[in-house]
Amino acid sequence: MYDVIVIGSGPAGLTAAIYACRANLKVLCIAGGPTVDDSYRLPGGQLMLTTTVENFPGFPDGILGPNLMLQMRKQAEKFGAEFIDDNVTSINFSGRPLKVFIGDTGYEGKAVIIATGAKAKWLGIPSEKRLRGKGVSACATCDGFLFKDKEVVVIGGGDVAMEDSLYLTFMCKKVTVVHRRDKLRASPIMQKRAMKNPKIFWVWDTVVDEILGSTRVEGIRLKNVKTGNVTELKTDGVFLSIGHEPDTAFLKGHVDLDEKGYVVKKENTMTSVPGVFTAGDVHDHRYRQAVTAAGFGCQAAVDAQKFVESFD
Ligand code: NDP
Repeated sequence: MYDVIVIGSGPAGLTAAIYACRANLKVLCIAGGPTVDDSYRLPGGQLMLTTTVENFPGFPDGILGPNLMLQMRKQAEKFGAEFIDDNVTSINFSGRPLKVFIGDTGYEGKAVIIATGAKAKWLGIPSEKRLRGKGVSACATCDGFLFKDKEVVVIGGGDVAMEDSLYLTFMCKKVTVVHRRDKLRASPIMQKRAMKNPKIFWVWDTVVDEILGSTRVEGIRLKNVKTGNVTELKTDGVFLSIGHEPDTAFLKGHVDLDEKGYVVKKENTMTSVPGVFTAGDVHDHRYRQAVTAAGFGCQAAVDAQKFVESFD
């Protein structure tokens, strides 16, 4: 039996594991693994898909996202955390101890910390699914290098869309941002950087009707939401940068979630189930930063420690 089972291994999960271990608790971290639907539930979380992280305190020259996560994991392992690189498939929180399953194998814990984060959203059109990995991607930093000297489209108007577009200009000939409104959601500094990049072009008030191509992306059919005009644009790649959704499907019916699927906190970091805590992007749709996720991980570990003490 573990004192604490941490589900997820982004900054929130790993910080929780470090703090819980240092409180002398027996900790299992179920870190994530390959998924059937896509490959983005990586051990290490979203930062495994980024390049340089410049705003995590302590690294004045920046640090590569995967490197940062590797260091955090090493730190958790150093203090005794056990890791399983796989996905939780079901849970049973109806009794004590709390039970977490990977397939048929169950793990028991006095407390559980949910830190599964959030993953990329998709448009939900059939052509997007059909051409995924054949020119359609939700990760510019993973797949951008495949589009050297090519023309690509980025969908979205948030900070990530700006970041992705700027990143893609390093290897692509032309990047066209398609946004469904005439105003960007991105922060002013990111807007400014993208706007002044000569390789970035803009299509406003427009949604994706269809991604075109039989074996590879060849173009995209767009619809102007104000005029209803339908146009086609030739492109070699389509990058989705339209936000994220929390990874909470396995919690439905067991833990209170809000209407968007984010875990609801009841008391400090505790969820609707006593002994089940939450940390990071899986409950936080406001800040969504590595450093805030790490802070939440610390909070959840402190709360879990207090709970485990009262359990004994
Ligand atoms: P956001 O939710 O901020 O933006 C998503 C964008 O996608 C919006 O422009 C939205 O349009 C658009 N969108 C959503 N759904 C659809 C759809 N179905 N079809 C077409 N367009 C769609 O998500 P991000 O991933 O960009 O950012 C997440 C958070 O991380 C934000 O808080 C962001 O500020 C932060 N962040 C900050 C960075 C920085 O400061 N350097 C870097 C990266 C992220 P609409 O605007 O119309 O809603």
